[in-house]
Amino acid sequence: MTIGLETRLREVLGKKTVEALSEGLGLDTVGDLLGHYPFRYAQRGERTDLGALQIGEDVTVAAQVRAAIPKSFVPKASAHDRGGRGGRPGGKPRDLLEVIVADEAGRSLTLTFFNQPWRAKELVAGRWGLFAGKVAQFRGRLQLNSPQYRLLAEDAVAGPADTAVSAIEEFAGTLIPVYPATAEIPTWNIAKAIHTVLDMVPNPPDPLPRSLRESLNLLDYGTALRQIHRPDSHEALGAAKKRLKWQEALVLQAVLVRRKAEAAGEAATAYARGGALLEAFDARLPFALTEGQRQVGDEIAAELAGEHPMHRLLQGDVGSGKTLVALRAMLQVVAHGGQAALLAPTEVLAAQHHRSIVEMLGDLARGGADLIAELENSSGRGAPPEATRVALLTGSATAAQRRTVLDEVKTNTAGIVIGTHALLYDGVDFAELGFVVVDEQHRFGVEQRDALRAKASRTPHTLVMTATPIPRTVAMTVYGDLETSRLTELPAGRTPIATHVVPYTDQRWMARTWNRVREEVAAGRQAYVVCPRVGDSDQKTANGDEPEAFVETDGDKRPPLAVVDVIEQLRAGALSGLRLGLLHGRLDADEKDRVMRAYAAGEIDVLVATTVIEVGVNVPNATAMVVLDAERFGISQLHQLRGRVGRGAHPGLCLLVSEAAEGSSSRERLDAVASTTDGFALAELDLEQRREGDVLGAAQSGMKSHVKLLSLLKDADIIEAARAAATELIRADPKLKAEPGLAALVDDLAADRGEFLEKG
Ligand code: ADP
Ligand code: MG
Repeated sequence: MTIGLETRLREVLGKKTVEALSEGLGLDTVGDLLGHYPFRYAQRGERTDLGALQIGEDVTVAAQVRAAIPKSFVPKASAHDRGGRGGRPGGKPRDLLEVIVADEAGRSLTLTFFNQPWRAKELVAGRWGLFAGKVAQFRGRLQLNSPQYRLLAEDAVAGPADTAVSAIEEFAGTLIPVYPATAEIPTWNIAKAIHTVLDMVPNPPDPLPRSLRESLNLLDYGTALRQIHRPDSHEALGAAKKRLKWQEALVLQAVLVRRKAEAAGEAATAYARGGALLEAFDARLPFALTEGQRQVGDEIAAELAGEHPMHRLLQGDVGSGKTLVALRAMLQVVAHGGQAALLAPTEVLAAQHHRSIVEMLGDLARGGADLIAELENSSGRGAPPEATRVALLTGSATAAQRRTVLDEVKTNTAGIVIGTHALLYDGVDFAELGFVVVDEQHRFGVEQRDALRAKASRTPHTLVMTATPIPRTVAMTVYGDLETSRLTELPAGRTPIATHVVPYTDQRWMARTWNRVREEVAAGRQAYVVCPRVGDSDQKTANGDEPEAFVETDGDKRPPLAVVDVIEQLRAGALSGLRLGLLHGRLDADEKDRVMRAYAAGEIDVLVATTVIEVGVNVPNATAMVVLDAERFGISQLHQLRGRVGRGAHPGLCLLVSEAAEGSSSRERLDAVASTTDGFALAELDLEQRREGDVLGAAQSGMKSHVKLLSLLKDADIIEAARAAATELIRADPKLKAEPGLAALVDDLAADRGEFLEKG
């Protein structure tokens, strides 16, 4: 039998191991198993931080035996206790062996073994070992109960001959791989299984093109696999990781580049530039387009006029004028008889878009009155309309409203259709869907985009808009199948928001802060006060309903400020006499809605809120924002938050109140937010400070299973180089015929691309 990466493990390993690997870890083939990389490497004498163990965690630690203390122990009687039958008080005494192990720093951990007194013979002081188990707490001390362990050979100690020693040392050099493990199969048994199969496939076919490997001086696949599982040295391990990261990056980029190339090859309806409707709109615009709007608008207009579908991501800060860019593109399509759909993530945002688009269009948006006549004359793509109907379809529409809208959509009476997911459902039939705009992409998956596209006879042009600046490496991976455009400037005449950091403990500064709020209110404007916590109960919001700031439970620190407390203090003190409103995620939907409407109507002067105001709130009269405990918020979050003020004619002010000491890293983050309004610069900074899991976390779970070693944070150079290499490869050989190994991996990943590109 020839054994390859696709060979089933059951053909080469024992039944028990195969079951444990399959059920616990989802590993079924030789390739799966070899792709199960160690998550770290233990070293004899390493500084395992025993002080950082968490109760309940499954850990494998390297530590040295300090003492083994035989004790005896009388179990309490209980019905469940096999030793104490019939509730007799006390049971048969049992042997208890307590073993104290310690790390280099001298922090110790207790291991307990019941009725295994013989273990004292091998767990002698001075021996190093790997110990695996669940961390428990007993009388205030951390311990592992009946852990599994393997001792390491130790020249200095003449211990009893131990077969376990050779079992572990023969497959590991000085760096001992520690694998993600389960209770059924500890790390050393995984290592043993890998050891077995590694020798069976010494030379797996190499999916990386030879020329690339040679020019970059990358290890061949077999060597890389051997070195990641049994590194000879730190250098060899580094080379193995680099090579395997390259493979991950190249496969991923090849999928994206190919998808992009295929999409570009599809046929789309061409909508010529300009058109009466767009020209009429431009003629009425009360302001000039910004340079960015003109440039991006030009790019989009040219693509809409082409025979192939546009797939473009438009990034731009809140207020940079994306909606206007999208609307002009929609009008170009409508002007030539096509329909445009605008997909929003929530009903509130869909309704807001509908209102503002109807308002921007003025008399170019036809009212319902013309409908009947229009329906009678309508005949799909016909003469260029002078105006168009803007339909809104959300889940909360009544049956009658829904029927009307569906009719408008079906007959092309509505050139622009705005809605939420409701647009994706069956029964929504477009007459001539030519253009899809997706607002705030991160809530929509590729599958949903595809569902909407399926409603068109030919692939519609697609524009994805996002106000969350996306760092380059993320854009290149998560949105790698789209072209990207950025709007980097705000429309002229907009005063950028002034942001200052205010020390919480400085009474004078704080007094000045609240006075500024009073001044704004006195001038007829409104303000926000943002706190990290709700505070009406101690439990954290766990349902993800409300994006509350991270709440530390550090005993030394005071708890983060809570809206329910702050509003009372302000009412009684600094902001007495003003009309204060309270908004947080635990209010019911009606109450939230009532408060927001009152605020928008100017009936509330100051809104004391959590981050629920982060998304989609537009009250142009709000000019000041005070963020309390500002260091509790992320950089991008603060940037999004302050985007809520200064949206109207008056300059905005944002005060970041914090106890963070001057020069601390928290304070530096706040200073960074205060120093620039460039959302892209802040997004890059934010990315540097976040952990990998957070970056991939919310984005796409599926991608995590493909990208095991590659870091979006640290491997930007590999990602960029792999992108260039993939582009070149696919340009020269679109089907990758010359690279069957690579092609197979690309096909595999592409097969679940819906999953790996899926968001949220
Ligand atoms: P975004 O969608 O990027 O948040 P919008 O398109 O909603 O931004 O624009 C925000 C506001 O700025 C809107 O009121 C819009 O009418 C206005 N606006 C857009 N472009 C310009 C411009 N070039 N000059 C002046 N105001 C503009
Ligand atoms: Mg917008």
